[in-house]
Amino acid sequence: MKFSQYDFHRSLLANLELLGFKKPTDIQFKAIPSILKGEDVLAIAQTGTGKTAAFAIPIIQKLLSRKRRHDNQIRCLVMVPTRELALQITSVFHQLTVGTDIIALSTYGGVSQDLQKEELQYGVDIVVSTPGRMFDLNHQGDLQLDEIEYLILDEADKMLAKGFYKDIEDVVRKIPKRHQTLFFSATINKEIKDLAYSLVRNPIRIQLSPKDPVSKNITHAVASIAMDDKRFFLERYLLDHADQKIMVFVRTKVRAERVQLAMQRVGIEANVIHGGKEQEERESALDRFRNGEVKVLIATDVSARGIDIQGIETVINYDLPEIAENYVHRIGRTGRGREKGYALAFCDESEIPLLRAIEDYIGKSIQSIPVSKTDTQFVRLTTDEKKNDWQKLLDDAAVEAAAFLKKSKRKKKK
Ligand code: ADP
Ligand code: MG
Repeated sequence: MKFSQYDFHRSLLANLELLGFKKPTDIQFKAIPSILKGEDVLAIAQTGTGKTAAFAIPIIQKLLSRKRRHDNQIRCLVMVPTRELALQITSVFHQLTVGTDIIALSTYGGVSQDLQKEELQYGVDIVVSTPGRMFDLNHQGDLQLDEIEYLILDEADKMLAKGFYKDIEDVVRKIPKRHQTLFFSATINKEIKDLAYSLVRNPIRIQLSPKDPVSKNITHAVASIAMDDKRFFLERYLLDHADQKIMVFVRTKVRAERVQLAMQRVGIEANVIHGGKEQEERESALDRFRNGEVKVLIATDVSARGIDIQGIETVINYDLPEIAENYVHRIGRTGRGREKGYALAFCDESEIPLLRAIEDYIGKSIQSIPVSKTDTQFVRLTTDEKKNDWQKLLDDAAVEAAAFLKKSKRKKKK
């Protein structure tokens, strides 16, 4: 079925065409009718399968078919875990509402509240927000929750997990009893599913390929590489694939910075995105990566959930994630939409238990790429870092020689 056959508002159809969306993806095909009917939906589908439009399209159609009660009614609230995701989802809403009077706004922390407050005053239909800023604006009376009709949790398992769950409970308490709730995620476990069900009446569950949470567009493998050699292998991989857009995942902010420095030492430019960075830096790092100015982006788990960037060809798991499901989210940054993607994990011996946990989680073993002693010797020998080391040794030797000469001259004088 094509989008043109749906009984949608003219502008919505036109915008879908402008975006080049001809046919709904599987999850869109399944979720759209239920959402239009007003059902609560829990939708689980792999990364990159178009979950954003799966909720945005029917919500926009609903907003267009019934006028808001008054100019200041916020009708739809989308809750997300990161600022970048708030911006990204808002941009999808913007693209799909061109030529309509529907206004979508993202509110998130790390930037001044003034602009967000001003826009809220003019009236918005859809707010996409991280919890922190949403509550601040709500407490200050700038963001009203009491007329919300649709509540959407994207990356729902994250939003219902510890750290966010209380916020969601608070939101549910503040919005009208009669509302429609939609949960969207690529991963979910039993406990989180139960939590989701406790928040809604009889949700329709839509789950695609529940057996394998990894998108079928992604080929993924693991190579056994000692911790101390990882930077050499990364350098080699990045040099050999210099034309590719590559995302590198590490476990901590500190390691992200360290890997960036190690690459810098060998002349490879990489940007870093993590929660410890200023918002402006995070956004510009992402923008530069998005438009291809910088080919390598080093990220931590949290910062990359849900991020949709075209043309990421490879994801490198420089460290294995400590939480198994994050593996699915990390490698899910590649192979989006119709694209194919490749993911490679560097696994030190100490990380084998993490690897097993991931394999348990995805229900299959990950293809292992043999790394020979010769390979290791090769990357160690060919690193530019080593060249720099040699250069440094030579420089040091020259300095020492000069000092020695000076000393011996002084002796002679005596
Ligand atoms: P998910 O949330 O499932 O990980 P996204 O909503 O970010 O995936 O969408 C992934 C990509 O697929 C986006 O770049 C989006 O523009 C594209 N996309 C979504 N729906 C369609 C469609 N019906 N036809 C073509 N491309 C689509
Ligand atoms: Mg998504």
